[in-house]
Amino acid sequence: MTDFAQNLSSIRYKIQDACQAAGRPSSHVNLLAVSKTKPAEQVRAVAALGQTHFGENYLQEALDKQAALADLDLVWHFIGPIQSNKTRPIAESFAWVHSVDRAKIAQRLSDQRPAHMPPLQVCIQVNISEEDSKSGCLPADVAKLASTIEALPNLNLRGLMAIPKATDNPVEQAAAFNKMQTLLTELKSQLADNKQLDTLSMGMSGDMGTAIAAGSTIVRIGTALFGARG
Ligand SMILES: *Cc1c(COP(=O)(O)O)cnc(C)c1O
Repeated sequence: MTDFAQNLSSIRYKIQDACQAAGRPSSHVNLLAVSKTKPAEQVRAVAALGQTHFGENYLQEALDKQAALADLDLVWHFIGPIQSNKTRPIAESFAWVHSVDRAKIAQRLSDQRPAHMPPLQVCIQVNISEEDSKSGCLPADVAKLASTIEALPNLNLRGLMAIPKATDNPVEQAAAFNKMQTLLTELKSQLADNKQLDTLSMGMSGDMGTAIAAGSTIVRIGTALFGARG
């Protein structure tokens, strides 16, 4: 059995530690529990420990879990690649989407967000390491996509998300995260009216400390909390 209480407290400790090292208040870094491939019962067990924000990558799996956990007050984040024919259920069932990477997806999410719900909180996913195989908007295209999103009534642009190229080299990790921080700073001056442009969604189980040093405000943690995926 995975000891969720133990894992959660060691993650919280790591976040605190990294914040202290970076001279940042630990309240500025939020933990997103990434529950993809893990059953609803495990999400329920983690929720019972006080965790409220959960991230999912696969739409149908996420919808099934949301239905099984409808009695809980959880905040769901969609963090996976988005096909345009799947935008409606995403717009209807999530509070946040971290993986908006093109105008067409943004437009559809805004059009399909139900009127009775608050605006969808979105991040632009940036292909920060400019890998051919990765989804995400290229760094050079972020400004234009951000302007498009700002003009959409049912989306609230909160910031940027990235999954940098996998590497164990902390210097390379830091370089990618620092680029993200620079991009967010540029975006803030471009969209000076947007007071809620406050989010850098970056850092996973293997690199959360480096991400926090570079200004991450949401770390997305799967393996370190739920254990390895099968
Ligand atoms: C799976 C996943 C994570 C969690 O990764 P771990 O290494 O298991 O912590 C974070 N972000 C995204 C987008 C993912 O797909």
